[in-house]
Amino acid sequence: MTDQKKSVLIVEDEEDILALLHYNLIKSGYNADCASHGEEALASIAAKKPDLILLDLMLPGIDGMEICRRLRDDDTTSEIPIIMLTARGEEEDVVRGLELGADDYVTKPFSIKVLLARVQTVLRRRSVLQQHVDGEELIRGDLRIHPGRSLVLVGGKSVDLTFTEFRVLEALASRPGWVFTRYQIVNAVRGEDYAVTDRAVDVQIAGLRKKLGSCGHYIETVRGIGYRFREDL
Ligand code: CA
Repeated sequence: MTDQKKSVLIVEDEEDILALLHYNLIKSGYNADCASHGEEALASIAAKKPDLILLDLMLPGIDGMEICRRLRDDDTTSEIPIIMLTARGEEEDVVRGLELGADDYVTKPFSIKVLLARVQTVLRRRSVLQQHVDGEELIRGDLRIHPGRSLVLVGGKSVDLTFTEFRVLEALASRPGWVFTRYQIVNAVRGEDYAVTDRAVDVQIAGLRKKLGSCGHYIETVRGIGYRFREDL
């Protein structure tokens, strides 16, 4: 149905990539708009409030990182999902972008199939997130997590987790498929003031995986970036 088409804004200064994305999004049933520099992107977002933004990080003028920051700081745009388009070897940028509130990233050169799947996933995740009620039991594969009671069951058997392990698991499992940086995991667990090293997060994750046994592999390592709870369970 035409009136249910989702709208995507593509922000990209490389004309070939912009045209390729535009063509394929339209073909896949989206409404797609284009912007080739930062100012144009911000104006388009303010005027049209797209359902999702594909955001190249290296742009002339206001760059992608700054766009991301401004969108998240503004209540009228803070909920619009953002997928960053990054070049290979830009792990530090990916980490920064995720911490600024981007939802996901795709590394160039990307396959159009992978990118379209990612767009679909992020749009779906957002609607699932909006339905999620705090305190509700999370069921993921063979794992059941009762946030209210700090109780975790693996295949029906309860598992003894420390408070911190529980909070890490709860944070990751509440957003399957999302990549969390180590800093974001620390924030989810302790709040911004708590100083924890990357290494400490890795130790928590290692302990958690071990205790989860057959469900340990639900937590994936994303090299150079952080961790993700699998969504293909
Ligand atoms: Ca660029």
